[in-house]
Amino acid sequence: MEFHFKKKYGQNFLADENLLGAIVRDAGVDETATVLEIGAGAGALTRVLAERAACVLSYEIDRELRPVLERALSGCRNVEVLFCDFMREEMGEVERALKGPYRVVANLPYYITTPVLMRFCEEAQNCLGLTVMVQEEVARRLCARENTPDYGAITAALALKGRARITRRVPRTMFTPRPNVDSAVVTVEFDGGLAVKSASAYRFAVRTAFSNRRKTLENNLMSAAGLTRAEAKEILAQAEIPEGARGETLSPATFARFSDLLFDRGIGKGN
Ligand code: SAM
Repeated sequence: MEFHFKKKYGQNFLADENLLGAIVRDAGVDETATVLEIGAGAGALTRVLAERAACVLSYEIDRELRPVLERALSGCRNVEVLFCDFMREEMGEVERALKGPYRVVANLPYYITTPVLMRFCEEAQNCLGLTVMVQEEVARRLCARENTPDYGAITAALALKGRARITRRVPRTMFTPRPNVDSAVVTVEFDGGLAVKSASAYRFAVRTAFSNRRKTLENNLMSAAGLTRAEAKEILAQAEIPEGARGETLSPATFARFSDLLFDRGIGKGN
């Protein structure tokens, strides 16, 4: 069966059974689990998921993989593969197809890693958690602490859902074709990481803080919310954020406090 890897789709496939089994264990998948996979590829991870989970729904953009997947998944009755671009699917439709709580387990295509993760942070209703293979540099960003260069909007956005941790480092030699960088598996349990009054106000706070990393939070807040300097100063003082602070110095807990204050003033609703 002839198949040509497509770099544009981030096709770096896994085959090592030990590694695949370890990823599924990292995800805590058991026979009751419903799993969503983004990027079935040649079906190696999909097959191991099907063997351990109750059911698997997998998205794959590349229709040329259909015959490869039919062979790899023959006999698996609990798997459905949809050949379409996951990023174009409406999240409500995806979740309706999953029919209840689910986990995401995926070796993500590197070119859409951040937008995929943002979708689960912002749009998902029934997601229990993520176990995703990402480039090691991205893994560091997802797990970063405030006041470090790796800390950014995606770190703070994920923190609203739960704490990200690296569960496994994976050298580039494990992939075919071999990429230029190493990878890591990151797991986040969506266990309600932070209590906030409004998720949309939290998202607004994070977006505002990182809208211009060179500017202070005060200046970013003034432009994003149309506030006077005095108003911005007052909110930041109430949130116990020091004068002149920049977004990357705010811990997720401080973001939560800040976003609750914004919410109380009707700022950031509907984001
Ligand atoms: N799961 C397989 C594995 O671990 O060997 C393949 C992982 S590979 C890194 C990523 C897969 O995602 C590729 O098969 C690629 O074609 C697919 N893909 C890329 N963009 C996609 C998209 N927007 N929607 C669905 N699948 C996509």
